[in-house]
Amino acid sequence: MVRVGVVGGGQLARMMIPAAINLGFDLRVFAESEVCSARAAHTVVGDYANAEELLAFATDVDVLTFDHEHVSGGVLSTLTDRGVVLYPTAEALALTHDKAFMRSTLSALGYPQPRWTVVDGGPIPQQEIDAVGGFPLIAKKPVGGYDGKGVRQVNVVDDLSDWLEEGPLLLEEKVNFRRELSQLSARNSQGDWIAWDLVQTLQENGVCAEVIAPAPDLPLGLTHLAGDLARNMAYDLGVVGVFAIELFETQEGQLLVNELAMRPHNSGHVFTELSVTSQFEQHLRAVAGFPLGSTRSLTSYGVMVNIFGQVDEAGARAAYKADPDVKIHDYMKEARAGRKAGHVVVVGENHQDLVARCKDAAARIRQPDYDGDHE
Ligand code: ADP
Repeated sequence: MVRVGVVGGGQLARMMIPAAINLGFDLRVFAESEVCSARAAHTVVGDYANAEELLAFATDVDVLTFDHEHVSGGVLSTLTDRGVVLYPTAEALALTHDKAFMRSTLSALGYPQPRWTVVDGGPIPQQEIDAVGGFPLIAKKPVGGYDGKGVRQVNVVDDLSDWLEEGPLLLEEKVNFRRELSQLSARNSQGDWIAWDLVQTLQENGVCAEVIAPAPDLPLGLTHLAGDLARNMAYDLGVVGVFAIELFETQEGQLLVNELAMRPHNSGHVFTELSVTSQFEQHLRAVAGFPLGSTRSLTSYGVMVNIFGQVDEAGARAAYKADPDVKIHDYMKEARAGRKAGHVVVVGENHQDLVARCKDAAARIRQPDYDGDHE
């Protein structure tokens, strides 16, 4: 029996559980607490910053994978040196640890990105501001940001001073994008690769709020461009597992890479209902060296809307009653304002109709008390 260990007990690990059951894999989770989202799996509680604890966990599995990207490079290299099979590898994960490192790696490989530069302390030379097209620009903390935390629009140089005290900053051109897209694909340890349809994502306050799959009104050229980009990147970066490329579609119809995730991603949740193979099943197949599943869509469109704060049980019942096509995924997390608590998906023929139905369901499910700022 294939034994897969997942570091992190969040919703991504949780959603790997049904896939593992169907595949007949033994899924074990190394979680930060017993009350984690993935508690339905065989769970070991430990500290992912402690290499010895992770090594002990890894002795019982064939391959170690991740629910999050927080395990440090030092711990990852200790695991690799001690013979633990990690997918994604420490090298691939390094790209998600540091946005400045990701930008320089992708630039060296010739991938299209927003103009960028790194500044370290003030005063910032005018040429650095000019290099990213002047104000307004986007500043990012290279390390530790997520869900829009650590990303800020900067209109005047003074807007940067508090962050500069904390360390170097990545400055980027503010892309006047037409929309944001995400390309999900997977590569297995034999080197086979497959992509899902390119999806459209809508961010609110820097957090993914809504996904439409496939992205409506896509010129065929962009579909091919995104697919080629993902395939080339999967090989160039030695990716094993599911990975997501967040993209900007510019007004001129170009694609620019915003970010990478070396794991199943919020923008791919829709494929659980839409596609023959979910991203969670595909990730497990990929890291276990199994043949990859078909990514063919079962119907024309799928829409996903995130629920923040808490999934209200009475609201969920009301949403199911109002629309039997609605699928609700409750991450069973402790309620917290702005935290991703679950999502809804509806699949069908007309994407506008699906968006309306997802929003209607989400409005019933949401607890207004917890709908504050996104975490
Ligand atoms: P996080 O790692 O916190 O998710 P991202 O780098 O993905 O941060 O940025 C979050 C959001 O901020 C993006 O989805 C996009 O809406 C906006 N954003 C990020 N970089 C740029 C940019 N260079 N130009 C315009 N908008 C941007």
